[in-house]
Amino acid sequence: MANAIFSNLPTTIFEEMSGLARALGAVNLGQGFPDDPGPEAVRAKAAEAVLDGYNQYPPMAGLPELRQAVAGHYARSQGLDLDWASEVTVTSGATEALAASFLALIEPGDEVVVFQPFYDAYLPLIRRAGGVPKLVRLEPPHWRFTRPMLEAAFGPRTRLVVLNNPINPTGVVLPDEDLALLAEFCVAHDAFAVCDEVWEQVVFGEARHRPLIAYPGMRERTVKIGSAGKMFGLTGWKVGFLCAAPALTHSLARAHQFLTFTTPPNLQSAVAWGLDSAADWFRDMPRGLERSRDRLAGGLAREGFAVLPSQGTYFLSIDLPASGVSEGDRDFCLRAVKEAGVAAIPVSAFYEADPVATIVRLCFSKGDATLDEGVARLARARDLSLRATRAIAPA
Ligand code: PMP
Ligand code: GLN
Repeated sequence: MANAIFSNLPTTIFEEMSGLARALGAVNLGQGFPDDPGPEAVRAKAAEAVLDGYNQYPPMAGLPELRQAVAGHYARSQGLDLDWASEVTVTSGATEALAASFLALIEPGDEVVVFQPFYDAYLPLIRRAGGVPKLVRLEPPHWRFTRPMLEAAFGPRTRLVVLNNPINPTGVVLPDEDLALLAEFCVAHDAFAVCDEVWEQVVFGEARHRPLIAYPGMRERTVKIGSAGKMFGLTGWKVGFLCAAPALTHSLARAHQFLTFTTPPNLQSAVAWGLDSAADWFRDMPRGLERSRDRLAGGLAREGFAVLPSQGTYFLSIDLPASGVSEGDRDFCLRAVKEAGVAAIPVSAFYEADPVATIVRLCFSKGDATLDEGVARLARARDLSLRATRAIAPA
């Protein structure tokens, strides 16, 4: 598939599973979006801006008020020193920020290091930009990478590495030593890092998000990507940020101008207001999600499912064989949505080669009743799976 053509690609696993959930009326613990409508004050600001604000094209790099708010937010929350005017660009979601990064930084034939499981947009976009993915395969239960793995993936043609942290789908928040190791490789190979940090505000307990851009030698070679959709639990808003040193930002903006050019100004101004005013939201939102994580994990454990830990994101995973399920993750998820009325995501969808096909991702950013019903239906799916696999097992 060296020259992947978009039309040959399958429909994303998120759309496939949400489509089945909609058609079958299933409980949707698949695609990651919250039941909670998001902070009312931020939504009210957006409504006001639609009615009374300026609704024509905003500046290509984004509203100055939002770029200033982004720089201010990252200074307060992550200790970063970003110059809003030369280092922050507003995009139409993190997805556009990723596309702009790949188009701006990859020349045909460049190698791009990508960790599996990966967010599903990475490989098609990297290939369309002419990049050659070099895959690093991570495994449960810890999903850690090691020095030998990086040695095998980085080489003289490495142009950039894509890092998602906190990690979707595994719920891992990378520790300091892993980030330092990756930074060491980027510097040694003179590679860029495209850091998809959309889950940076959704981190639980003792875990801390550390931006790779803050590591020695990384300030000039890192593109940091954020998403207001994840920060405020408004996933449909598609307001994203690209943060990078001025020379990089210049190239990124050249790609962005021909992708979407701008992003709805009313949403931009509401996000700017939210970043400046919603300290309570950033404190309370992860606590609420942590309670939901614990409710789902507790319910699953009581039903005998083996739950992998989650330090961040909206997701936790279950280990199928350790939960008594012998079916592969995709077969189990199709059975779960069609026969038991609960949608989930098979983690094998996030591998290209040699997939881990024993792990199922579940979204916990849901109301208690939905989570409880989801657990009951997953238990039913496991019973149905057991019955079906016993029926076909040789006597
Ligand atoms: N990257 C990751 C890791 C994600 O999980 C998501 C969406 N959940 C995105 C990118 C896309 O973000 P956006 O909706 O802002 O385009
Ligand atoms: N990021 C969301 C998830 O992981 C889905 C985004 C999408 O549907 N493309 O569930």
